Amino acid sequence: MNPSSPSGAVGPPLLRSDDIVDRVSALAAQIDSDYAGRDLRLVTVLKGGLFFLADLCRRVQVDVKLDFMAVSSYGPGSTGSVRITKDLDDSIAGADVLVIEDIIDTGLTLNYILKMLRARGPASLEVCTLLDKDVRRIVDIPVRYTGFGVPDRFLVGYGLDYRGHYRNLREIYTMDEEYLRTIAG
Ligand code: 5GP
Repeated sequence: MNPSSPSGAVGPPLLRSDDIVDRVSALAAQIDSDYAGRDLRLVTVLKGGLFFLADLCRRVQVDVKLDFMAVSSYGPGSTGSVRITKDLDDSIAGADVLVIEDIIDTGLTLNYILKMLRARGPASLEVCTLLDKDVRRIVDIPVRYTGFGVPDRFLVGYGLDYRGHYRNLREIYTMDEEYLRTIAG
């Protein structure tokens, strides 16, 4: 059963569940061929990336370990510096690390996280994002795997939230930003 579209959604889903499932499988196949025989660590930033990670890691066939971090940003206008509210459980020194992201927008947050992870001495450090809003990019981030390029609109569903809501929608919707401004007061 499809979830009903959230109030404030514009039009039909931008990405339907079937499209997401197909793309996730294709990404998993690429990862399998690139990481065969390696010590692959999938690192995800909570909470948005969790849904993509859960589907992706069940599709890959290479052996993977999972680890999680959580960050809180210093707010709008910041340069992307973040405070770690939950660090990884394990050392990544010598591991092949693939950071799993829900969406990259300006790239500032991820840029900061990548610098921090790089300093810990992984054997390799790459990025896999489901969505890329690349027209908004401020810092250049090397992204190895991208699910979908998306327009500069506010999206919800499949992990992406609006004030904590809508993460569990199976499809990805574009929100009406005027509507969001109205309900935010
Ligand atoms: P960046 O530092 O790349 O500008 O910020 C990335 C973060 O902003 C994402 O991890 C996500 O939390 C949030 N974000 C960016 N675009 C969207 C969007 O369209 N919808 C939602 N729900 N979050 C977004």
